[in-house]
Amino acid sequence: MTETVSGLCESQKQENTTGAHTSDLSYPTFVVVGAGPVGVRCAQRLLDYSSDAQVVLVGDEEGEPYNRVRLSQYLADHLEQSELNNPVTHAPHPRLAEFHNRKIFEIDRQNKRIIDDQGQQLPYTKLILATGSIAARPEIPGVHLDNIISFRSLEDAQTLIELRQTANTIVIVGAGALGLETAAALKTSNNRVVLLARGGLLGNRLSDTAESYLSAALSALQVEVLAGAQLEKCFGKDAVERIALSSGETIDADGVVLCTGIKPETTLAEKCGLDTQRGVLVSPYLLTSDPDIYAVGECAEYNEQLYQLVRPGFEQAEICSRHVCATTDQARALPPYQGSSNDIQLKISHIPCFLIGSTNSSNDPNLRVLTFENRFRGLCRELYVCNGKLIGAVVVGAWEESHSLKQAIADGADVSERQLESFCEQGNLWQETREQTLKQQPDSYLVCQCNGVSKGELCTAIAGGKRKLQDLEIETNAGSACGSCRPLMAELLDIPAPNLVMRHARGILVISILSLVLIAIAAFSPPPPVSDSVQVSWYLKKLWYDNFWKQVSGYTLLALCVMTASLSLRKRWQKIKAGHLDHWRYIHSLIGFAALLVLVVHTGFRLGENLNLALMLVFLAATCTGSLVGVFMARNHHWTDIKLREHRKWWSRVHYALLWALPVLLFYHILAVYYF
Ligand SMILES: Cc1cc2nc3c(=O)[nH]c(=O)nc-3n(C[C@H](O)[C@H](O)[C@H](O)COP(=O)(O)OP(=O)(O)OC[C@H]3O[C@@H](n4cnc5c(N)ncnc54)[C@H](O)[C@@H]3O)c2cc1C
Repeated sequence: MTETVSGLCESQKQENTTGAHTSDLSYPTFVVVGAGPVGVRCAQRLLDYSSDAQVVLVGDEEGEPYNRVRLSQYLADHLEQSELNNPVTHAPHPRLAEFHNRKIFEIDRQNKRIIDDQGQQLPYTKLILATGSIAARPEIPGVHLDNIISFRSLEDAQTLIELRQTANTIVIVGAGALGLETAAALKTSNNRVVLLARGGLLGNRLSDTAESYLSAALSALQVEVLAGAQLEKCFGKDAVERIALSSGETIDADGVVLCTGIKPETTLAEKCGLDTQRGVLVSPYLLTSDPDIYAVGECAEYNEQLYQLVRPGFEQAEICSRHVCATTDQARALPPYQGSSNDIQLKISHIPCFLIGSTNSSNDPNLRVLTFENRFRGLCRELYVCNGKLIGAVVVGAWEESHSLKQAIADGADVSERQLESFCEQGNLWQETREQTLKQQPDSYLVCQCNGVSKGELCTAIAGGKRKLQDLEIETNAGSACGSCRPLMAELLDIPAPNLVMRHARGILVISILSLVLIAIAAFSPPPPVSDSVQVSWYLKKLWYDNFWKQVSGYTLLALCVMTASLSLRKRWQKIKAGHLDHWRYIHSLIGFAALLVLVVHTGFRLGENLNLALMLVFLAATCTGSLVGVFMARNHHWTDIKLREHRKWWSRVHYALLWALPVLLFYHILAVYYF
């Protein structure tokens, strides 16, 4: 048990060390059980809305609270671990106490205290359960073998990162949002990732057309999607070695990730006799069947509905905290919780995909579903229109109008027949008149969907001096959940968008373009003349013709070529883990560029004859394809067109093929220089 922030009252401090319990609280104490994103949000709001209450946050996970929502981006190497931090406050708060690595075992409702697994007790005035969910594991033979992992926590993510480094084939079971994000995050250039999609992609919420586009986009990332495949059995001695599907097919696999759904964590609530069904039953003010206990987030069941997303939890935390801190009269005037939407926004960097609003193809005669497709560019857009109003949309592939669309659906905006016709023909609703920048949008425009933060709120914070992305996030909470609105926040701040995909993208782009220019000069311009009259030419002549200097530049070139190969080693040799791959890529491109410059020194860009000509051409072709890969890599996250992204893969293969020829030609070149 660790107290990270001082501020517990004396009786609690005493209780912490002695285990003695004092139920006579002279101040209100609000205790939140569960330090997931919703528990943390609750603690923040309780501090905001109360003036004298002690707020206590108790969680059973090790370490400080983290942002579970962004775990898949962490797994995909798009975030450092420190970027997952999700503190209640950014500076010590006198009324806040936190306990981590402490599992609450029991609630003594009669004496209003909670008891942890070591028997220590903590009194409460109001208790908020934010115990979330646990991963559901299918009951199939062999599911308890090693390397069969559920993905729910930071610890799971770290285990998966290790698994990715060693496993040749990883099978992902379940094709909901978590399954898709996990599959994309685990795919590397030298492993096989198979996704078992028993009930279709995204929980069968897509039409066949939209599903085919999403499936194609995953295939472009080289994730193998097995539609309708159901896991039946896992085989192996200690760790999993093979899996069997219900179709009878078997797949050799050294890792299995279970993304087979979640189950609300209701153990505590059930044990103390609170009303539960699938989750802990709550009223419109998030009250359980005990008037002093609330439940929020994934563990709460409201109106027969469970939510598995963070935004509903945040909305519940807001209402619950206001209710906890309100006087009886104030509480009566508070707006009740009325349920939340179940919008999905995938966080796979190369696959923009979202489902918003109502996307049920119900039998309502007034419902119309309009579709725009562009196979070549991998675009599928479906609009759900009812009585002339936009009520929902499914989008696969990039769409500049996405933000306007989301706002229009949130507002239940009218849509004209002319707009719908234009949508069916060109895929756009508003054309250039509505394609506005964020700055031109109204203040009510919702920038952060997870936290419900509008453009107006962000502008107020910016006007109040929050000029950095991090400060803006701390002030408004925008961008703190899934993070997909951070580029928009950057746009408001007039700063470059945070690079969500690749570090050094700009540097790699510049180096690659410079290399291409140099190669073009080498290939298409005549070799530079050298005259004895000019001092510079004298030096060049020495470099190009003097035996000693030729050897110096030649061996430097050789050394640089060997150094560029280190990138392949970093990718393929599991023992080299130092530094993020993007840093290595950047260094690789810098060394490649340096090699080109040394080539000028060594040859004066004269192509030569016979063996030398072959060597020059292969070298230039290898650097040219490498530079093209650099350009595609640096721009990849801007391109949602699957075919365009395929170019990177194609040029990489040519680059590797050429690199195999280089050492052989170099060997004969050196031999020829010394022996013939
Ligand atoms: C990889 C991944 C990606 C996701 N991406 C998205 C996304 O893009 N968008 C989205 O909306 N949602 C996403 N989610 C879902 C989102 O993370 C959850 O909706 C959110 O975390 C729910 O928050 P919560 O606080 O209710 O529950 P949890 O996050 O589950 O937190 C509950 C906490 O309570 C603790 N606890 C439980 N019992 C006890 C006890 N007895 N004593 C003490 N502590 C206890 C648990 O250990 C846990 O730390 C994602 C989830 C995962 C795993």
